[in-house]
Amino acid sequence: MNDCISAISTAKGAAGVAIIRLSGEGSLEIAKKMFKSKNVDFEPYKLYVGKIDCENFSDFGMCVYFKAPKSYTGEDMVEFHCHGGVAISNAVLKQTFRLGARPATNGEFTKRAFLNGKLSLSSCEGLIDMINGETEMEAKCGFYLYRERLFNNINQKQAELTNILAQIDVDIDYPEDDVPTADETVVKNRLLNVYNDIEKLISTYFGASKAKKGVKIALCGKPNAGKSSILNTLLRCDKAIVTDIEGTTRDIVEGSIEINGVSFNLFDTAGIRESLDKVEKIGIERSLKAIETADLVVFVVDAEKGFDKYDREILNKITSLNYITVLNKSDVCDDVRIDCDIKISAKTGENIEEFKQLIFNKSKVEKVNFDADFVTEERHFYALKDASNSLKSAIENIGVLPLDIVTVDIKDAWHYLGLISGQTSDQAVIDEIFAKFCVGK
Ligand code: GDP
Repeated sequence: MNDCISAISTAKGAAGVAIIRLSGEGSLEIAKKMFKSKNVDFEPYKLYVGKIDCENFSDFGMCVYFKAPKSYTGEDMVEFHCHGGVAISNAVLKQTFRLGARPATNGEFTKRAFLNGKLSLSSCEGLIDMINGETEMEAKCGFYLYRERLFNNINQKQAELTNILAQIDVDIDYPEDDVPTADETVVKNRLLNVYNDIEKLISTYFGASKAKKGVKIALCGKPNAGKSSILNTLLRCDKAIVTDIEGTTRDIVEGSIEINGVSFNLFDTAGIRESLDKVEKIGIERSLKAIETADLVVFVVDAEKGFDKYDREILNKITSLNYITVLNKSDVCDDVRIDCDIKISAKTGENIEEFKQLIFNKSKVEKVNFDADFVTEERHFYALKDASNSLKSAIENIGVLPLDIVTVDIKDAWHYLGLISGQTSDQAVIDEIFAKFCVGK
């Protein structure tokens, strides 16, 4: 077992309850020194009520002991449930340090859970998504990974590959033996099934990852077309938090709204048109960048002013992009002969709900099917791509090269799949072959 680590597991600040968690050797001994109660015998998984002693004061709370290996980390664990608040939780934490625990590093409890085989790597990633997720979709996608759904899917594929490898290896090692030989057509078909399944998973990545991470929407149009008003109307509709997040990937998010559980990050861009003004030029350049990297561009045309040469200039810049044309100010005039996708009024709210659904549909976000398997993490996507390429090569080489050479690609595919769960050692393949085909007679 590892050394004893300790940390506050709940968010810092004033709250009803705070939880201080310990894991590793000596956790129970620390609990015994700090926690006082009548008849407390630290029976595992039993929540005791009593006094939690800190250096200078005590709190009245609860304590529970999780006995290894039946705990989150797989080690002995203890939790103190004290009153929430910075002073109390810090005092409890410090007392655990005084009694021998050391501060846990980021994610160390979960890392131990992984190292002790309690969770796969993809499950840990799901947990991170769940904790950091701000939208319903992020939480749901995280839960999918956390509960090992993808892992189970990958595991099955690895088992199938292992089985195929075992069959081939038996033929290679014991060609004279009276065991069935690997039929090349059978091997090829079995590999094709795995390959097709992997390709199917890969094909979910684009839509599902977008649904999870959120979609970037750029509003563009000439000055006074009503971009800011549309933004405000959308945000008000959803009572969204105006985030103003500055970051490397998000630039300046003007606000986020949730449509069908998916986060849409809206960018209000400066009017793009030819300009000689230095400051305006910088604004226009930034707008163009936001527009080019957006998943969907919303081109706002002013119904009152009509479609003019400035609109034409803007349209020319976005024709190659994924865009929709919105005619705003329909309350003033909706008789403009413009080819638009929707007529709305930011002022009266007319067609705003329809507009939101149009944004959703045109953003190419797919509704994630939680009954099937899907991929949202880039790391999993690339591992699957590599596995798929190896399998493709294996399939193409069957009948061309000897089967023992083909196994190199199959083993590579197995290895790449193992990256998803975190289990990458080829030793397991070898072990499995011997376990299944006990031909050592
Ligand atoms: P932006 O420069 O494109 O961001 O445009 P604004 O949102 O600042 O709007 C410019 C002007 O048009 C303001 O006076 C708004 O009140 C007005 N406006 C925006 N949307 C509408 C609308 O749907 N109907 C009417 N009648 N006026 C609007």
